[in-house]
Amino acid sequence: MLSFKNDDLYSSIHMSSDSKERWATFFTRYYEKQILNLASDYPEISSIDVDYAALQNFDIALADALLDAPLPILQAAHDALLEYDLPIECKLDAEVRIINVPDKIKIRDLRSNHVGKFISIEGLIRKATEVRPKLAEAGFECLSCGNITTVEQDEAKLKEPAECSHRVCRKKGPFKLNFNHSKFVDAQKIRLQEAPEGLKGGEQPQMLDANVEATLAGKVFPGDRVAMTGLLRVAQRQYQNVKSTTFDLFLDANSIEIQDKEFQDIEILQEDEAKIIELAGRAGIDQAIISSIAPSIYGYEMVKEAIALQLFSGVPKTLPDGSHLRGDIHILLVGDPGIAKSQLLRYVVQLAPRGIYTSGKSSTSAGLTATAIKDEFGDGRWTLEAGALVLADQGIAAVDEMDKMRAEDRSSLHEAMEQQTVSVAKAGIMANLKSRCALLGAANPRYGRFDPYESIAEQINMQPTLLSRFDLIFVLTDVPNEDRDTGIAKHILQSHFAGELASSGFPNEEIEAAMSVIRPVIESDLLRKFIGYAKRINPILTDDAKQQFIDYYVGLRKQGGEGSPIPITARQLEALVRLSEASARTRLSKWVTLDDAKRVIQIVESCLKEVGVDPETGKRDFDVIAVGKSKSQQERIKSIRDIIRELEREAGSAPLEKIVERASKLGFDKDKVEAEITKLVQEAAIFEPVRYSGNYRLTQQ
Ligand code: ADP
Ligand code: MG
Repeated sequence: MLSFKNDDLYSSIHMSSDSKERWATFFTRYYEKQILNLASDYPEISSIDVDYAALQNFDIALADALLDAPLPILQAAHDALLEYDLPIECKLDAEVRIINVPDKIKIRDLRSNHVGKFISIEGLIRKATEVRPKLAEAGFECLSCGNITTVEQDEAKLKEPAECSHRVCRKKGPFKLNFNHSKFVDAQKIRLQEAPEGLKGGEQPQMLDANVEATLAGKVFPGDRVAMTGLLRVAQRQYQNVKSTTFDLFLDANSIEIQDKEFQDIEILQEDEAKIIELAGRAGIDQAIISSIAPSIYGYEMVKEAIALQLFSGVPKTLPDGSHLRGDIHILLVGDPGIAKSQLLRYVVQLAPRGIYTSGKSSTSAGLTATAIKDEFGDGRWTLEAGALVLADQGIAAVDEMDKMRAEDRSSLHEAMEQQTVSVAKAGIMANLKSRCALLGAANPRYGRFDPYESIAEQINMQPTLLSRFDLIFVLTDVPNEDRDTGIAKHILQSHFAGELASSGFPNEEIEAAMSVIRPVIESDLLRKFIGYAKRINPILTDDAKQQFIDYYVGLRKQGGEGSPIPITARQLEALVRLSEASARTRLSKWVTLDDAKRVIQIVESCLKEVGVDPETGKRDFDVIAVGKSKSQQERIKSIRDIIRELEREAGSAPLEKIVERASKLGFDKDKVEAEITKLVQEAAIFEPVRYSGNYRLTQQ
């Protein structure tokens, strides 16, 4: 780090009076304007940002000394600012915050030699406590003589004076804390976590806690990406009140820079750019991208195509009236167990520039969105903790086993998916966190295998309102099929074979040949850059594409009409737009063409044919998703309720055989009516006043 260490210079710099003079010169030369601005806003604003690069430019020894022994150097900076000669009568008791320290250290690389040094770390805010006053200087009143003894507080535990500071008294107590003679500072505790894109597949992110004070407190929220700079310190671990010899690391923050740069700027070199442009121009680029997604998983071409578009994503828009339209594409995979759903999710997370994998059932206390809790971390303060969708901001959140997610998550997911924010209002905490991510969910049917005659909502235990927020829902069933089964078997065996060759030291050419089926066409690293590059383009719909969407939408809506079910809703139209924008991006095209439109209509069609159809009539019916019941089923239920109401009025309650009899006159099938009645009982819409009597009444008229 220290390229040329001039010891003479160092020793002189360490003397604080000298470094104070250097700072004074630095401020006059480089920061005069900023200091004058500060003086006019002081004390409402009481900190100044100093660019490390400027300091380095001015005096490399001073800049190095700051990294090496920050406290005296920062103190000197503070003092130099305090003594700065201003044209107005004002003393600037302000904090000097150092920003732009170039060498970022990874949390997992922190070692004991970093302790006591000034370091800069990048990461994601996972937790933040509320901002609360903390004693910085405590005034202790001596109960014998009334003298006030001041003790600086720099640790969690309250430090008491050893003795009264009064010349004569010198008693060892008792003391009483006197707030009028104490100083408080705003304080907050923050937990920083390594950002997902820095992790290799499967690695757990590591954390670092930081103390944040004064003007820095309350500046950042869970989910924010930051560079945090400060002094790395140690805290002694305690185990059941016994002090241990191992220590925990924490950062005393000096500055926080929020990095709201889009994930578009993954570093793309010029040679990468050439490769990307060449790739995008290829004729079969669509297929090449699809084949590069989870090549070890056989089949699922359409799902992989949808995931490819999800990775490229549509264009987020802010309309003139201030409303926000998401560009992120949400996809749900519903299906039988053991058909590689989880595997697919894991692969996508590795591929996506910012991917987070989590399971609906495990998860942390923060779950999928966010939570406010009072725990040890906050020393009794409320702590706000970000969940998966907030941590995946500007990336992809892969949520496995969504059927098992918690009730709280279920209710907050609506907002997270559509508005892409997560609001928390609990106790002292009010926050609105960002969750601008695409959701790739997977769910297993509750009763083992998927049943096409049951509503999806019920089978995966998810409200229809939530389901209809997915742009695409794929139902994957494990039905035996000779061709497909042979394909899967060969593919799985081939992957295992390649793995076996590799681990038994066979010649490289043989391994290469065996691996070829499971090797992506576009290597992951390049694909990631390709995606990052393409996301800088915001394609626009051509008239042809627009017309194609209108024709498709209106054409389907016409099938609806009076008495018929609704075949499609405006949500699917929005999904089409997003998907087509993503499709244009895969060619780095500024225009969404007719071909893009046709391509994505095909994908949406294939999903709707699977999930947007009433299995009884075979007709299009979007209510199957949006309401959770097909129109024919809704009508049947309504008729049954009417019959029960009638019978109740006639005889006090409705016997089963009478219900069936009247229903069959209306043309309803006996089995279906009985099944519906069982369900109505389960939903507590009807009940038996006398158990097992077979007589029913409506719970609500
Ligand atoms: P799910 O999450 O759907 O229950 P998993 O992702 O756990 O299923 O997959 C079970 C196993 O079966 C995995 O090891 C996966 O690789 C394998 N498998 C299932 N279907 C396929 C397929 N089409 N191609 C390759 N492997 C498959
Ligand atoms: Mg699974």
